[in-house]
Amino acid sequence: MDGIRTTSRMRREALQTAIEAHGFLDPEEAGKLFQLAAEASSLAPCLEVGSYCGKSTIFLAEGCRIAGHNPLISIDHHRGNEEQQPGQPYFNPEVYDDNQQSFITFDLLRKNLYKANLIDWVVPIVADSALAGRWWTTPLSLVFIDGGHSEKDAFQDFHTWAHHVLPRGYLCVHDVFADPRDGGQAPYLMFETARKEAGWETVGLVKSLGILRRR
Ligand code: MG
Repeated sequence: MDGIRTTSRMRREALQTAIEAHGFLDPEEAGKLFQLAAEASSLAPCLEVGSYCGKSTIFLAEGCRIAGHNPLISIDHHRGNEEQQPGQPYFNPEVYDDNQQSFITFDLLRKNLYKANLIDWVVPIVADSALAGRWWTTPLSLVFIDGGHSEKDAFQDFHTWAHHVLPRGYLCVHDVFADPRDGGQAPYLMFETARKEAGWETVGLVKSLGILRRR
């Protein structure tokens, strides 16, 4: 409910485009991302790992737009993660071009950002997150990790990006499921590891969105 209340501050075209975009995001999680980006982004840019077709991107970027200071950087290699490959459980033929044998999620991301009127508030980076992070030096106010869901990818994203979060900034992790019956364990293991590291304060969980804050 919190999510629905907070997203009422979004412009209609942004909310409608986000709702219609392919992707997996609970309305309460979406509302929380919007609220945190609106709060944090006056400090520095926000960064997302895992743009896919732009659903979470729109909630975060609309928060940045409302705050009016810094954009969202959104990273994705746009090749789909391991669970989204042909024959895998999250494969979606609507985001795959059979003729080219490739994903078309970058096109869909761009279309959705135009529709949501957020093109000036998102800097998309089409690259592997670890590759994009190799030369990264800009401090960040919020990092949202929703990239590859293997243990290797989840921890790599954490080690690549978390240390760029400024004091009082947020680290958000999607698909944190304590019970293996609810989903894969890699994001949960990564979140629990991060939680125990010095320097982070646990804000809590909103559905499967784990939130930490840099002390
Ligand atoms: Mg996710």
